[in-house]
Amino acid sequence: MVLLIALLITRDDLRQDASETFEDAFGYLAYDVLGWSPRELFILRLRFAGLLDSPLGKQWVGAVEEASKNPVQTGSAYRTVNEFSRDEISADVYQLTLEQGQKLIWQFSRLDEADNRLFASLERREKGSQNWTTITDLDTDKAIKSRFISQSDDYRFVLQPELFASVEYSLAIAHGGSLPMPVESASRRDIGSVFGDPRDGGAREHHGVDIFADKRTPVTAVIDGQVRTGTGGIGGKHIWLTGGLLSPYGARYYYAHLDGFVVSSGEDVQKGEIIGYVGNTGNARTTPPHLHFGIYSGGPVDPEPFLTPEPVLPAR
Ligand SMILES: [Zn+2]
Repeated sequence: MVLLIALLITRDDLRQDASETFEDAFGYLAYDVLGWSPRELFILRLRFAGLLDSPLGKQWVGAVEEASKNPVQTGSAYRTVNEFSRDEISADVYQLTLEQGQKLIWQFSRLDEADNRLFASLERREKGSQNWTTITDLDTDKAIKSRFISQSDDYRFVLQPELFASVEYSLAIAHGGSLPMPVESASRRDIGSVFGDPRDGGAREHHGVDIFADKRTPVTAVIDGQVRTGTGGIGGKHIWLTGGLLSPYGARYYYAHLDGFVVSSGEDVQKGEIIGYVGNTGNARTTPPHLHFGIYSGGPVDPEPFLTPEPVLPAR
């Protein structure tokens, strides 16, 4: 550690002459070995410059907390262009609450030409916790990035320029569902019974959603994966769809009350492929035809957040 600090100080001095950035020289050590963020490294630099305990340094370090007291709530789709001027010390915080099964997308870019640093990160806070942890630092490459949400938590985008820096940026954020509807031409309005509804006079809970559609409406695979079919029990003719190790959440998808299927056990299917037809087999014999669609990841999880419309970034 002492050696590291010595190196950091030395290199920071050299920076003036060599115009080599501090982060280039020590990025590997600080980020990969020690797990520091660029912002934490900058705070260390403030400390060595003797600025950390100055009013200026304190204000800079406290700016994120200050902005967090009144964060911008982004809703499901948001776009902004904003500017930091060199004579103010502030941070921008954009906050949203996401549910397991949703997909978050964003697009971030710098609009100024300066080489000042802008610290930009996506952070998460567990429900009931006060502590934010950084999930990823944001690239300024304008590419649309996405992330599957595997835990229902608070999320925030935090942006802060280094001291005395003028910076302009553009940020767009949207969230929505991560899966297509498993019934052809269906929408959320066709969901007639939701997760957690009582069943058998309250003896058990509904572990899925019921999507109502005409008998023989095609049902489709929501991911690339492998199917296993069955014909018995309360689900009647049913299909289990499982993705590979790399599929989001490692979840299993359950299609029940089918009129029939067009796949056989062990078959690989692709997202969007027709695998069967809506029916009312099993314990749905007396109800109108519908697909009972369940998602199991650990235990049963609510499919509705997965099935909300996919996120779309607002137009400029
Ligand atoms: Zn059901």
